[in-house]
Amino acid sequence: MLEFHQVHKTYTTPQGPLNVLNDVSLRLAAGESLALMGESGSGKSTLLHLAAGLDLPDQGTISFENQNVASLPEPTRAKLRREQLGLVFQQFHLVPSLTVIDNLRLQARLANRDDADWTDHLIERLGLSGMETRYPEQLSGGQQQRLAIGRALAPRPPLLLADEPTGNLDETTAGEVLELLLSLVRETQCALLIVTHSPQVAAPLDRCLRLSHGHLLEAAL
Ligand code: ATP
Ligand code: MG
Repeated sequence: MLEFHQVHKTYTTPQGPLNVLNDVSLRLAAGESLALMGESGSGKSTLLHLAAGLDLPDQGTISFENQNVASLPEPTRAKLRREQLGLVFQQFHLVPSLTVIDNLRLQARLANRDDADWTDHLIERLGLSGMETRYPEQLSGGQQQRLAIGRALAPRPPLLLADEPTGNLDETTAGEVLELLLSLVRETQCALLIVTHSPQVAAPLDRCLRLSHGHLLEAAL
């Protein structure tokens, strides 16, 4: 469903060109889960941004469901993101002026997939029953990130991209939130590409890759 073919990415910086991804190829099948590891600055977030079509490669191709993402105009890429991708980041990225339930419904509506039964089920699975009319600032960090995961999955996308989704949480909460994320990914049979520094997070997934000096390698845990 997602394929990188010989992708290169170089940023222009005041200090000169910075090559971040060098001949990166990868293939993620429907329903497959993949951990992406690598040192800070190795290009993990860059790879995820490219996968989401938020930035484009300098060379090589990125295809999503056999469409070359770079050949699509930005409005089409944005539609693809809304309808086909769930995105979760380290920061929670919720809409502060919307309640819990409206954060979920908004995302589903943007993707034309409003399904009240599914959002109700999600609220329960997220452990947010009874908190539907609260605003994000009235939730704990763990609850906010659970809501962010729910928001990403509200349109039932075939692919979830998660960039250190538990990086802002304490160890116990991080474990609980991650377990929830993986369990919802299994339930929705969604493919997962997750950036993590934790071997425990990577261990139960189908594959683990590591970025090192611009190259992507299969990693043993
Ligand atoms: P971390 O684990 O700290 O989040 P990362 O592996 O996600 O790191 P990236 O954010 O992909 O790393 O950054 C890779 C390199 O590219 C870093 O050296 C970063 O400074 C640089 N970089 C990232 N985005 C840009 C940009 N828009 N312009 C210039 N340089 C950038
Ligand atoms: Mg990063």
